[in-house]
Amino acid sequence: MKKARIELQGISKSYYSETAVTQALRKVNLIFYDSEFVAITGESGSGKSTLLNIIGGMDTFDEGEMFVDGSPTFQYDDEDWEEYRRTKIGYVFQDYSLIGHYTALDNVMSALLVMGVEETKAQETAMKYLTQVGLDGYETHRASELSSGQKQRLSIARALAKDTGIIVADEPTGNLDSETGQQIIRLLSELAVDHLVIMVTHNYDQAEAYVTRKIRVHDGQIISDVGVNENAENDREQAPVDVVEKRSDGQIQRDRKWENRLARLFAMRNRKTQKGRAVMFTSFLLVIAVASFLFVGELFQHRDDYYTRNYSQSAFQREDMRRLVVKRSDGAELTQEDKDALKKIRYVESVDLWDVADDINFYLEEGQDYKYVYSDPSRRRRFKEDSESKSSDGDSSTATKTLTFLNENRYMKSAEAISEKDLVAGRLPVSQNEIVLYSNDTSVLDTEKLCYFMAKNIWDANQYYSMNVKIVGILKETSTQVYFSTALCRSLASALDSDEFRLMYKYDKSYGDYRIKRKMIPIISEDLNGVEARVSAALEEGPEAGEVPYTTQPRNDKGDLIGEKTEDVLFVFPQAQGHASTSDFIEVSKDFFEQYYQKQSTQASVYIANYAKTDVVLRKLKRMGYEGISSYRISVIDYNQEKVSQRLTIIGISAFGLFILLLAEVLILRSLMKIRIKDYFVLKFIGMKMNIIRKISYFEMGSYTIFAVVLTMAAMWVLRLAGVPVICEMMWYFNFAAYLSYFAYNGLLIFLTVLFFNRLLKGRLNA
Ligand code: ADP
Ligand code: MG
Repeated sequence: MKKARIELQGISKSYYSETAVTQALRKVNLIFYDSEFVAITGESGSGKSTLLNIIGGMDTFDEGEMFVDGSPTFQYDDEDWEEYRRTKIGYVFQDYSLIGHYTALDNVMSALLVMGVEETKAQETAMKYLTQVGLDGYETHRASELSSGQKQRLSIARALAKDTGIIVADEPTGNLDSETGQQIIRLLSELAVDHLVIMVTHNYDQAEAYVTRKIRVHDGQIISDVGVNENAENDREQAPVDVVEKRSDGQIQRDRKWENRLARLFAMRNRKTQKGRAVMFTSFLLVIAVASFLFVGELFQHRDDYYTRNYSQSAFQREDMRRLVVKRSDGAELTQEDKDALKKIRYVESVDLWDVADDINFYLEEGQDYKYVYSDPSRRRRFKEDSESKSSDGDSSTATKTLTFLNENRYMKSAEAISEKDLVAGRLPVSQNEIVLYSNDTSVLDTEKLCYFMAKNIWDANQYYSMNVKIVGILKETSTQVYFSTALCRSLASALDSDEFRLMYKYDKSYGDYRIKRKMIPIISEDLNGVEARVSAALEEGPEAGEVPYTTQPRNDKGDLIGEKTEDVLFVFPQAQGHASTSDFIEVSKDFFEQYYQKQSTQASVYIANYAKTDVVLRKLKRMGYEGISSYRISVIDYNQEKVSQRLTIIGISAFGLFILLLAEVLILRSLMKIRIKDYFVLKFIGMKMNIIRKISYFEMGSYTIFAVVLTMAAMWVLRLAGVPVICEMMWYFNFAAYLSYFAYNGLLIFLTVLFFNRLLKGRLNA
């Protein structure tokens, strides 16, 4: 008894378009058996392809029932049909439906891989089928390079490789010359020995000698169904192995892992066999990766709005975004251990324990930092009045020397912030008057210069002090920074302590008190000893030498008087002529100074590599038991409208840019990907599950994205190391969160693109 493979009962099918309804099949009843070679004929538009597509599971029907191996299909869902196409049907199309960029071998292998055959076995088996259709020797040729006849042989080899019981062929010889067509028909008839072969043909004469059955379709109905060449058919008794059972025990096929592996394999094959396209996709994604890197960088860089404000020097004179001012949480004095600990923090470049000096202006170079203007003697009087507050009164009889400060942007730093390693010659400063600086001329070593100091947030606005400083070391790296001795920094900064230092003189016996009590700024002068002191010659009604007592009243941080009121007698000398300072300074000996200013620094300045790392370092400081603030942040006030709108513009452009990139990727890349649809159509009909086809794009496009993202990052790092300023600055803001956003953004983009592509693909493949 012959076994019914496929049975159609009352199958009807209509196509609906906007303008018309076409009934392609009307109540078709047919039974197909194993080892038949069926020819379906009929004029164009009679419904042959519709019939074949229904048998092949490529199309649905409206009415009736189709039985497969005796079982009805009414409860089949998409997945069951997928499985049906995969395991039951081999397809041969008029247009071959090969993947042109694959080799002949890969085309056949694809079918086997889809069936779950392991790779080396698949290759072996594929070779066997290639030989069977006469294509041995062509396995490494690209399918697109084969002749039409070879292409059709290849598509038959592929149908065979699926090892299904049924082969459907829609006009397989339609594109072939008659001789080649003949060969293909013969090949199919050989296969019909152990397959059910159903072929649509418009050229029955060519097939007549080989087929076992002829079905004529007219206007969607079967008008004749006759057996031909009956004698030959009798030999074809042995039924093929039941394919479904054979496949159903293959657990791996359902395995997700296997699906992923298969998808990856096909993704890799796309990459390898279409290098041009791979380059095109990658280039496109590279553009997106670079642009999104810059936009994300800009967003992170402009997240902080401190940029958009004006700097006020009321708290910290020195405007330096990289400066953090640090105290111990317990308020204790800072030690060398603190300095070492602070220096070890990541992104910290230097630590200055005497940070008060960091806000004191110095003027070292005559002509650049300050200048003297000599007034005409005849106009002397007027000039003298004008410039009194800032002039050192040399009282020359010929001209008035007026001192003008030019460069307000040079601030002291103590040599605490550097080490011997930073010097190319000389040594670090020790004595109060010693400095190190950068110079390309080492002969400046050991020379002396006059240096002026102004401490606008410690002293009064126009007070200045000057002394001769000696260059004892040369810095290795180019810098305009001059480093001063800790002793000098401490001495100049002492007035910040709330201790008041008063010089009291002109004792009035009748009153019983001093007539003059002057607030002074004490500064150490190393050539003074004991209770010797010196005041500016400019001090009006100055004290006489040896006459003057002085007193300090030390106060604590809150301003309360502490300890005993002390009184001492100083021996005061007038300051040497030409020694410049305003009249509020009193030079005292080191011993005397230290009696009243014991304090070590309680506040340090930490300079970080970049403002971008402010929060990172502040958090670290907190964990280590320090209180830190950004001197920049607390000194910026009221918004600068121009900077605000600049910042908002940049943020707007970046956000908009990221949005445009998203659209560009989803729209442009998705349409570039459409060139793949044809291939996926083929894969679908050799039985690949939609699920896997979808994954191929994720794997393929994902790998291009990863490549583009990694390459972009590498390139940015190279630019950063090469010192490209814009990139350098931006990269500081590329913290972990920024990288994460960058990856997530590119990941999201490719995910959405593939998602939308797959939607489109599903629509196309089901159409
Ligand atoms: P054949 O293969 O015999 O030339 P078909 O089976 O392709 O004929 O088509 C049968 C009828 O159904 C024709 O009138 C054709 O126009 C119509 N038809 C086929 N496919 C579609 C479709 N996808 N949408 C609308 N009409 C269709
Ligand atoms: Mg047709």
